[in-house]
Amino acid sequence: MAFGWIDEQADVRRRAGLGRTLRARAADSPLLDLASNDYLGLARHPEVVEGAVAAARTWGGGATGSRLVTGTTELHGELERELAEFCGAEAALVFSSGYAANLAAVTALAPHGSLIVSDAGNHASLIDGCRLARGTVQVVGHADPEAARKALGTHAGPAVLVSDTVFSVDGDAAPLAALAAACREHGAGLLVDDAHGLGVLGAGGRGAAHAAGLAGADDVVVTATLSKSFGSQGGVVLGPARVVDHLVNAARTFIFDTGLAPAAVGAALAALRLLRREPHRAARARAVARDLHTRLIAAGLDAVRPDAAVVSVRAPSPQTAVRWAADCRAAGLAVGCFRPPSVPDGVSRLRLTARADLSEAQIERAVRVIGDTRP
Ligand code: PMP
Repeated sequence: MAFGWIDEQADVRRRAGLGRTLRARAADSPLLDLASNDYLGLARHPEVVEGAVAAARTWGGGATGSRLVTGTTELHGELERELAEFCGAEAALVFSSGYAANLAAVTALAPHGSLIVSDAGNHASLIDGCRLARGTVQVVGHADPEAARKALGTHAGPAVLVSDTVFSVDGDAAPLAALAAACREHGAGLLVDDAHGLGVLGAGGRGAAHAAGLAGADDVVVTATLSKSFGSQGGVVLGPARVVDHLVNAARTFIFDTGLAPAAVGAALAALRLLRREPHRAARARAVARDLHTRLIAAGLDAVRPDAAVVSVRAPSPQTAVRWAADCRAAGLAVGCFRPPSVPDGVSRLRLTARADLSEAQIERAVRVIGDTRP
């Protein structure tokens, strides 16, 4: 039977208790949300919502075409200029998602004959970028600048080192300064995905590269999403103007994709302006993460020390992680749940996000529920 193998795979998943289903979120859900990536609590902020509405009124429901044809509105230009300025980059290019931005950056920066050195803990979108790129991929140990340095030393042609700045499973930060030094030693470029750093790390949320003194460097390219701290949708590549110009000419997910919807551009622009006005939101998200971690440890839970706003709690097995997350939900708390195949075998986690707008009472309640429902 056509597609018969799909049923076999579904059976295996069901037997392992690891099937996934979609659950629609209700607009008026009473759940305490520690599962979303809305780190700064901006997704429903009135100014961000109004930014989306005003942009849709002016520019319509969609971008109407690819960026190179009709899909670049004046608003896209405004967002790119302001994002570049905020992050200290020479230029910025907005994409329809962070995923598309990563595919674009990796493929466009790793031509035939080049070497891509990729951290073993990188996000799926970077991994897929490596799979699509023409360069040869070498995966190195997680957050291991010495391994990266060695790998770069094996190659004479163009090379790029690719890493998340904050890893999405454990919320740990990459050793950016040491990675940059390894790259410079070998004349390689550094490409970092700041999806979980932008808006949280660095002065006023300017991101991990800015915090590491790498903003504006001519050998560093940063990607990020507009769907986490900025409460919107879309992705961005930040870097030297000649890199952005190269992406406009060579990146397939830029050229062949419809431009980001105006409403998403308007929402992101409003969030960025709000963060500039209220820079304390970034520090607050980090403080909530530290507080959450301290309380989880005090409650005897095996939480990973956070470097940004992601707080992970180790679970004994994939099945217990799934049950634990379900029990939290039944007790009024939404948490993320990471288990294979999204993460390697033996790495199952409850994933909590420390939103800047969580109150102390909410943090306390979240820790109590997680502790009470522990397997
Ligand atoms: N990079 C990382 C590290 C991410 O966690 C995500 C989102 N889960 C992405 C890229 C993709 O971004 P987007 O959701 O905007 O496509």
